[in-house]
Amino acid sequence: MVINSKMSLQETLEIAKKEGNTIGLVPTMGALHEGHLSLINFAYSQCDKVVVSIFVNPTQFNNASDLEKYPRNVSKDAEFLKTHNPETIVFTPEVNEIYSDKVESEAFEFGDFINFMEGEFRTGHFDGVGSVLKRLFDIVKPDKAFFGEKDYQQLRVVKKLVEITGQNVEIIGCPTSRNEFGLAQSSRNYRLNDAQLKEAELIYKALTKAKSMFSSNSVESIEKEIKHMFEAQPSFELEYFSIVKEKDLIPTKTKDPKEHYRAFIAAFLGEVRLIDNMALY
Ligand code: AMP
Repeated sequence: MVINSKMSLQETLEIAKKEGNTIGLVPTMGALHEGHLSLINFAYSQCDKVVVSIFVNPTQFNNASDLEKYPRNVSKDAEFLKTHNPETIVFTPEVNEIYSDKVESEAFEFGDFINFMEGEFRTGHFDGVGSVLKRLFDIVKPDKAFFGEKDYQQLRVVKKLVEITGQNVEIIGCPTSRNEFGLAQSSRNYRLNDAQLKEAELIYKALTKAKSMFSSNSVESIEKEIKHMFEAQPSFELEYFSIVKEKDLIPTKTKDPKEHYRAFIAAFLGEVRLIDNMALY
């Protein structure tokens, strides 16, 4: 079922809730793939009804051309969902349904961790993410909402968002879904040709390398190694490689055996910006 007005969505959900169903929400920007599907299946394992929102949120893009080139194909997405999960309620609002006439972000105090990685390189990105999700949670009022660890910093932002807004929704993180060569599924992969898809595996190789080096090497020497790996493949431009303490998501140069760490990468392959991360434990 595809619904584009928030009123009809709320009517549908009202009935479902009255019948005692729990509601799961999977927010997406469309161009659906196996990664989204893994979230949807996870949602179905925990909720009676699942809403998948498809909305390319303009306020979270800091780059006009990235927004313009973001892959969009709602009818293909609807077909994809019909094939895999025909029960899914697909919400495809227009921009004015979400933002009325003011397409602007709200400013949130998410904490210091958003000054790094995605927050550092995509100015205003997380305020945009917070603004759209706050609205989607208000419209859908889900019991649970599902987010991928592929966007790990975002997952933590969303957990902080509901702490700030006091919205009554449980945020569930789901593991990153990868292809057989380790490449994390992403809507942006649709913009890569076959040769680039092969090259893109470097990100996973680099993260795996960092993980294998972590116990017996310094953070600095791991960073050096990863930089070398990217320099050896000039079609790629590494934007950042960061090792962070999982607790606070702040990049670090030191290691404490009592802490857990994660490595994060953002890199451009041609014009396409790809991100990924991995636990180092
Ligand atoms: P997007 O449409 O890219 O905004 O992603 C929508 C949701 O799907 C976010 O919670 C993402 O973290 C999640 N997601 C995207 N790719 C993957 C993946 N490969 N594995 C798991 N979750 C993913």
